[in-house]
Amino acid sequence: MKHSLRLMRIAGIDIGLHYSWIFIFILITASLAAGLFPQMYPEWEQATYWITGILAALLLFVSVLIHELAHSLVAKARGMSVTGITLFLLGGVSNLEEEPEEPKVEFSMAIVGPLASLILAGVFWGLLQLVEDRQSPLAATIGYLALINGVLAVFNLLPGYPLDGGRVLRSILWSRTGSLIRATNIAATVGQVLGWALIAFGLLQVLAGNLGGLWLALIGWFLSSSAEASRQQLTMREQLRGVRVTEAVRTRPESIGPDTNIAELVNEVFRREQRRAVPVCSDDRVLGIVTITDVREVPQEKWSQTPVREIMTREPLYSVSSKDDLNTAMTLITKHDINQVLVVDNNRCTGVVNRADILNYLQLSHELSFRRPGR
Ligand SMILES: [Zn+2]
Repeated sequence: MKHSLRLMRIAGIDIGLHYSWIFIFILITASLAAGLFPQMYPEWEQATYWITGILAALLLFVSVLIHELAHSLVAKARGMSVTGITLFLLGGVSNLEEEPEEPKVEFSMAIVGPLASLILAGVFWGLLQLVEDRQSPLAATIGYLALINGVLAVFNLLPGYPLDGGRVLRSILWSRTGSLIRATNIAATVGQVLGWALIAFGLLQVLAGNLGGLWLALIGWFLSSSAEASRQQLTMREQLRGVRVTEAVRTRPESIGPDTNIAELVNEVFRREQRRAVPVCSDDRVLGIVTITDVREVPQEKWSQTPVREIMTREPLYSVSSKDDLNTAMTLITKHDINQVLVVDNNRCTGVVNRADILNYLQLSHELSFRRPGR
């Protein structure tokens, strides 16, 4: 995920922090130090409120991390590749390279997060029983963590996709109906309805004078929009799955040599053929790719003296084979935020597939209400 800070590496998983967490951290610390703690423990000193607030916020962060690690470790144990975890606004996201292939796998991956939070809540509650002075900062911190982990477990178990509970629901529906799309549609609809209910409830709270309702409304908005986004993403993925790259798009096999100058490239390839990118090859070997963005970095008066090998992108080059499906190409494009990938077969470049080609394909299939047989 972009806009994140790499913190550490645990069991081969990169742990990152989304910048929004800095804001959240301040907000949680302040609401504890200036709100909850002074109300519950009026006899503390001012500095104690803040130190305890910071400590509690840090431990909340660790709790969320443990929840996410539980998801990732189960995913890894089930043979899925997990590149990292990014902690952000309302918890975390585990970066999975792929979706689970079986309902069983999704079920165990999803349930283990809330289970971890529930266990943490129990552990903190047990520890709280050992503390004699219930008014002490130690008791306050432990009590807060028991409560907040309980809330995390319950909230994440709500059955709306893409919350953990929604994933559990989806895996059950998926194994009952055998259709991932139908299961996702139902679970995402529950997610949207839950989101709207949270928004309505939150706004009612605000009208009643409780500003904390804004949080609920924000979470609701986030839930309903991510439910819709997940639904669209899956629909797209299913439409692109199994459609071979060369079947669906014109892969434009032409390439240029590394000594071609920019002026020729712009006039002969970009302008005349309305292309935005072209592979650079020498003796059929791919050396790089040159795009409109690369060209724009060079002043126009230098175009006729500059060969493309000076401006092309050499590494990293992302490619698919012509036997791969469009889903593979689209996944690379979105994952690396690029506009096109090369099509390479037996080390020879046979073309380029770009984002616009794939979107055009989707648009056209939609307009033709095109259904491939057997689906
Ligand atoms: Zn979770």
